[in-house]
Amino acid sequence: MSDKLIKFLSHVDMVKIAVIDSTELVEKARKLHGLNPTPTAALGRLLTMAALMGAGLKNEEDKLTLQILGDGPVGSILAVSGFGAKVKGYLSEPLAEAESTHEGKLNVGAIVGKGDLRVIKDIGLKDPYIGVVPLQTGEIAEDFAYYFAYSEQIPSAVALGVLVNQDGSVKKAGGYLLQIMPDTPEQIIKLIEDRLASSKSITQMLEDNMSLEEIATYISDDLNTRAVEELVPEYKCDCSRERMEKALISLGKTELENLLQDEKTELQCHFCNKKYVFTRSEIEKIMENAKA
Ligand SMILES: [Zn+2]
Repeated sequence: MSDKLIKFLSHVDMVKIAVIDSTELVEKARKLHGLNPTPTAALGRLLTMAALMGAGLKNEEDKLTLQILGDGPVGSILAVSGFGAKVKGYLSEPLAEAESTHEGKLNVGAIVGKGDLRVIKDIGLKDPYIGVVPLQTGEIAEDFAYYFAYSEQIPSAVALGVLVNQDGSVKKAGGYLLQIMPDTPEQIIKLIEDRLASSKSITQMLEDNMSLEEIATYISDDLNTRAVEELVPEYKCDCSRERMEKALISLGKTELENLLQDEKTELQCHFCNKKYVFTRSEIEKIMENAKA
């Protein structure tokens, strides 16, 4: 059993669907960051969304960054996807918690609060594309549906779900992104809307052992739904000593001079917690190279 993401086309290619089982990558994020249940759901949903959107990146160097900047106890949440739905992320307060909703669900909206959703696409253009919309509910899926409708003008249905076990580990995580191309006839849109209105949650469908193909066929209500691409999403950090050196240089001369007071400087990657140690003489060298 491992994570999987499949892209589909349905209704004679007028409807695009991506469906993901992200159970393992969300569990990896939970362990890595020591997350409480509600933050697990919050970061898990955003990582799942990053993979769904990142699956559309076309080049190795392309990068997609998603930020939830709310005023709730969890602070800000960040997820990044590289090419091929390789994702990573973190949030400010791993131990933030809130009372469950009356249906007994993890209350992600309560720990996120009010604020903005930001999407940054770095796809090889001169400037990255940045889209910002106000958070609608802080539940993340609704916020992205709003983002697609308002910022990209693509009618979309978004489902993101994370189910945790009693011990806090991830039982199921997954999601889908269904997008309707321009000029799609009204009756097809109605068909899909009706189907989605009566559909079970994504985590329930995964729990019922529905395959990603079955989920795509079901939500689009089209038996001719066909798979066009399959990816293996993964939680993967691409940090390196070289990148950390660049981060040091970006601190600027004064900050670097301050670091020289210490025998060694330790930097930790926010995404994977790996530590990088730089000695005083290495910092001096970095400063010299930065000048050159
Ligand atoms: Zn890292």
